[in-house]
Amino acid sequence: MSSDATRMCELLVGLPEVNVLDVVERDDGLVVTIETRGLRPVCGACGGPVVVKDRTDVVHADLACFGRPTVLVWRKVRWSCRSLSCVGSSFTELAPQIASPRLAITDRAGRWATVQVGRHGRSVAEVAADLGCGWHAVMDAVAAYGEALIDDSGRFGDVEALGLDETLRCRLGPWKVQQWSTQVVDVRRGQLLDVVEGRNAAGPCVWLAARPELWRDQVRWATLDLSGPYRKVFDTMVPDAVQVADPFHLVKLANTKLDECRRRVQNETMGHRGHKTDPLYRCRRLLTKADERLDDHGRTKLLGLLAAGDPHGEVRTAWHAKEVVRSIYTIDDADLAAQFVTRLGHDLQDDSCPTEVRQLGRTILRWRHQIAAWHQAHVSNGPTEAVNNLIKRVKRVAFGITNFANYRIRALLYAGKPYWDLLATITPR
Ligand SMILES: [Zn+2]
Repeated sequence: MSSDATRMCELLVGLPEVNVLDVVERDDGLVVTIETRGLRPVCGACGGPVVVKDRTDVVHADLACFGRPTVLVWRKVRWSCRSLSCVGSSFTELAPQIASPRLAITDRAGRWATVQVGRHGRSVAEVAADLGCGWHAVMDAVAAYGEALIDDSGRFGDVEALGLDETLRCRLGPWKVQQWSTQVVDVRRGQLLDVVEGRNAAGPCVWLAARPELWRDQVRWATLDLSGPYRKVFDTMVPDAVQVADPFHLVKLANTKLDECRRRVQNETMGHRGHKTDPLYRCRRLLTKADERLDDHGRTKLLGLLAAGDPHGEVRTAWHAKEVVRSIYTIDDADLAAQFVTRLGHDLQDDSCPTEVRQLGRTILRWRHQIAAWHQAHVSNGPTEAVNNLIKRVKRVAFGITNFANYRIRALLYAGKPYWDLLATITPR
């Protein structure tokens, strides 16, 4: 090639300090062969001069070029010491700016793939198809660059309101065993801080123990669902934080109890599970709908169906209980809310209430301080939306990933607010 053509070719390939040896077009894309032209290294053992022992072609998938998938063939030099008396062994050249020796795609393709999968939440398979390489080639790169990005110590600072929440990650094996993980969340900022395996106390305890004591002291509010293990985590690790029950989970529990009650009454009155013509089955959606979202027609219909299918008014009581639980969060005054929650817990345990409602009452009483604390903290009010969105985001991108390490990286890249500008400066693990 003329020197002009060589220069143009190098410009197009866009890598520093390389000679372009060959560019071939194949049916499935371009194949670009390069070699480095850096300084000759010295022997690592004796510091003496080295000679070329051999050259091997190492293939990396690269970014697509002009719409064609591109493969970079790097003719790598193996050096060996010239001194016969030297004990040093031969070594292969390194140029991480081209590609890390442990990754099957080039450095720039790795950074691009990390943004595609991590920031935009695209699937690994999709990005692999773009690059014309395998799933593992992309996932390995995302893991290598992503880990360095999420372990950045500046990713999150002090956290005033810390939340724990369980997520079903996937089902494994022929018995579809559920695999759970716990999300550690900054409830105020709606940021995923980390993900730990399991939904018992151990994982979050270890995670919190790894934070500096000063960091733990900053936590003023600790939000949780109505689960014992997370309560234990907070009791042990951040004993001074005020525990706050997440409204979303309490309302969900009230809805679950309502649903259980409806199905039991259905069974007792009809002797079978709900058919689409049964009144109680027909009103199941209207029951869980928030009362203010029912129009007059919906409410009339619901009351009619209950009159037909709920002879002792049990479902109706459970429905009212759910609405009263929701009304806890419309009270402005913290003291008033505390009294209201305690009274509600007792009222729902009245003998006239169906068994599901009495269970709800017991739970409310057991968690009354945490439920009422919401009114002092309001930690989950605005951010509940943010946190629920965050959980949905994590699920959308990470649900079904069986490998926990991959799950953690992808969830944190997507919802953990990494500092993306850092990607240009980090080196892959
Ligand atoms: Zn040597």
